[in-house]
Amino acid sequence: MADYKITLLKGDGIGPEIVNQAVKVLDKASEKFNFSVEYVEALLGGCAIDATGVPLPDETVEKCKASDSVLLGAVGGPKWDNQPGNNRPEAGLLGIRGALGLFANLRPSVIFGPLKSASPIKDEIIGGNLDIMIVRELTGGIYFGKKGRTEVNGSPAAWDTEMYSVPEVERIARVAFDLAMKRNKKLTSVDKANVLESSRLWRETVNRISKEYPEVELNHLYVDNAAMQLVRNPRQFDVIVTSNIFGDILSDEASMIAGSIGMLASASLSDGKLGLYEPIHGSAPDIAGQGIANPLATILSVAMMLRYSLNQPDAADAIETAVAKVLETHRTPDIYEEGFTKVSTDEMGDLVCQAL
Ligand code: NAD
Repeated sequence: MADYKITLLKGDGIGPEIVNQAVKVLDKASEKFNFSVEYVEALLGGCAIDATGVPLPDETVEKCKASDSVLLGAVGGPKWDNQPGNNRPEAGLLGIRGALGLFANLRPSVIFGPLKSASPIKDEIIGGNLDIMIVRELTGGIYFGKKGRTEVNGSPAAWDTEMYSVPEVERIARVAFDLAMKRNKKLTSVDKANVLESSRLWRETVNRISKEYPEVELNHLYVDNAAMQLVRNPRQFDVIVTSNIFGDILSDEASMIAGSIGMLASASLSDGKLGLYEPIHGSAPDIAGQGIANPLATILSVAMMLRYSLNQPDAADAIETAVAKVLETHRTPDIYEEGFTKVSTDEMGDLVCQAL
């Protein structure tokens, strides 16, 4: 029996191309670091609609639950744009997050030294390397709260509710403090406690949990200030923890600071070890099948999987170092600059394997 069972959800568009490269790199890492991996494939998104009529077949959920970790490419594309909302490929994505209880979304915003020029922020602000980790609560808050339509003074109106319970805040806070302990021991909690009651409960709870982590330096920022500080002085941040809606917005802002969408990985974690790892970009239907997609975000997602679900931190470090090394000389078209060698999706995967 293999040490780890990984479910692959290759998905649509460039999904299969980039997941294949990540598998190549994971196989190489398993040889080097002496562990074995068994792969199981399952359908999610448009390919699942074509094969079964629904974007998230029950079989996919069962396979994911029976594995140590899940690697997802991306889902969606114009072919399925006319599906009703609850049967679109993206509904499969929300469905799998819910079915696996993935309440913590980790989005690192990292600039690899050789890619500094891809950031829209000035060099002197970025400094050396930028490395921020945003921890976003993923299954609560206003996206999941009660909502409805009503009438106010005879006019149509609509309402949504933001609600967090203490246990929901406690568990996401612990994920963030644990991460801060493994990094620079600095945590920023982002809320809107000057206005929102749910934010006041969030802040009280984070403060209480902080007593369990006396080594971590905790500060609080209002979300409007945090959005500004991310651009003004991103180097002040190490780990940021925030609610679902604020995290949605801030993590996109932070990824833009890093510059290239083809480079950024993410992890979604549950209470147990099971995690789902995926690049932050979509299925890029405009370039699918051309062999030019950048596989590095998916390869870096595998590094996160090794670190957070499979307890193989040395293999994770080695993959990240290999990626940084390859970027010194080679680029896929999306991050190409003069003076570098332009390579295909497949060649990029091979180069990372060689550098490992
Ligand atoms: P996208 O991220 O797929 O593409 C945006 C742009 O970035 C495109 O020009 C694309 O070619 C480029 N790009 C993205 N990833 C790249 C890579 N690895 N290498 C090189 N270039 C890359 O976003 P979109 O165009 O808004 O959405 C396309 C489809 O993907 C839609 O159906 C959307 O719903 C879906 N989507 C899925 C996910 C997911 O599966 N998690 C996330 C976002 C969008």
